[in-house]
Amino acid sequence: MPEGDTVFRAARLLDKSLTGQVLTGTDFRVPQHATADLTGGTVTGTVSRGKHLLTRIDRGPDRWTLHTHLKMEGAWKVLTPRQRWPRPAHTARVVLETARATAVGFSLGIVELLDRAAEDDAVGHLGPDLLGPDWDEERALANLARDPERPLREALLDQANLAGIGNLYAAELCFVSGVHPRAPVAAVPDLRRLVRRAHQMLELNKERPYQSTTGDLRERERTWVYRRDRSPCRRCGTPVVVELQGPAGRERASYWCPSCQPYDTAHRGTNPAGMTDNATKRMER
Ligand SMILES: [Zn+2]
Repeated sequence: MPEGDTVFRAARLLDKSLTGQVLTGTDFRVPQHATADLTGGTVTGTVSRGKHLLTRIDRGPDRWTLHTHLKMEGAWKVLTPRQRWPRPAHTARVVLETARATAVGFSLGIVELLDRAAEDDAVGHLGPDLLGPDWDEERALANLARDPERPLREALLDQANLAGIGNLYAAELCFVSGVHPRAPVAAVPDLRRLVRRAHQMLELNKERPYQSTTGDLRERERTWVYRRDRSPCRRCGTPVVVELQGPAGRERASYWCPSCQPYDTAHRGTNPAGMTDNATKRMER
């Protein structure tokens, strides 16, 4: 699942490559916009809002916004007009062509053309954007604190609380806070510190090709617990565990150190560390 900083970089790439350019061809390969054609339109910019991308296109009197979302596997690639596509053509969902570049959105989870005035329909639900120009720590903090009994990881992944955290940062933030992913928000010793760390992690990584929360950029050393199941915890040596968590059909892998992030049974009746023996799945890397 792409994180907010990945989406931020995708927005910057599209913005740099397309802004000010006239579209010489467009292809929307989704049923609801299969006949749309914005050829002749001018791209006026691309911004990210949380994990959403908004590409603005003016054509005559019309002001369009192309709203896209990478979801699980999506990516935007910017190629020279004759360059070979890096992914199979049948996975392309949008093609935007200009005289000097072809932008292809592969495997996008959302592709919709909106009237510019309706952008809020797409992104109005989002909490403060960790990488947005209007990042608002107080509001993010208030949003998280509003439901103190909610499991921490779930609260961090809820884009209506704060926007930009995916599976990687959710796991890492629980670890650096010393809190089990399923423990309630109220168990976090210093919620403001956690929110600041979230902001710092994304800010730092938005400029790097590889995401690192440890400060180490070597391949196996970039995270504390994320995708490190069965490897020794960097702090205490206990093997990191993984478990599927989340609503049925949309479960995601959750990683934690059972020693550094003990589950406080005062908060819940069961001990999920015990449950993982049965429920653990070695899934989704
Ligand atoms: Zn540990």
